[in-house]
Amino acid sequence: MGKFKLIALAAAFSALMALSVNQKIIVVDAGHGGWDPGKISRDNHEEAAINLEIAEQLQVLLEAGGAIVFRTRIDDVALGDTKRTDLRARTAMPAEMQADLFISIHQNAFPQANVKGAQAFYNEGSQDSRRLAEAIQTRICSSLDPENRKKAKGDKAYFLLKETATTAVIVECGFLTNDEDVARLVNEEYQRKIAWAIYLGIADYFAQGL
Ligand SMILES: [Zn+2]
Repeated sequence: MGKFKLIALAAAFSALMALSVNQKIIVVDAGHGGWDPGKISRDNHEEAAINLEIAEQLQVLLEAGGAIVFRTRIDDVALGDTKRTDLRARTAMPAEMQADLFISIHQNAFPQANVKGAQAFYNEGSQDSRRLAEAIQTRICSSLDPENRKKAKGDKAYFLLKETATTAVIVECGFLTNDEDVARLVNEEYQRKIAWAIYLGIADYFAQGL
């Protein structure tokens, strides 16, 4: 599916969903950047760059649906000189922007190279975050990757989720330790498709609340 077809679909879909994302304020965070490349695949693809591409595609779709989108970064930069200050800057942004949602885009890694597939994570203390993560995971499995059997997962340790006051989800879009995932994740078409699945999940989440 081409870029403009997806944007048109997003607009039409939003109309059908009673514009569920319309006027919602959403902070989209591309994890890592600058001095922090994040995880690195065997063939040297850096997580930070993949995160940025998917965040960009997600912004385009959300804006086509009428959302107001803020990005934590739009370039290959860090938001602080240390991991701690960088993460603090990211988690502060949703409150500053009075955001409805915080979506953080990352890539995963695992010692066993056969582990693959996207997964959404939420803070165990937040029911809304859980509902959002489940909506995104459902769309990832149904519209992107029917082989994906993963479930949205609660977590207490993720600093990003714990420290963000807003409803927040981390989407780990795939595993940089799995060659099949890497080949998909660096492909622009796939980046658009996963952004589309995340977008549908967000739209479903808001539609549930209507
Ligand atoms: Zn990451």
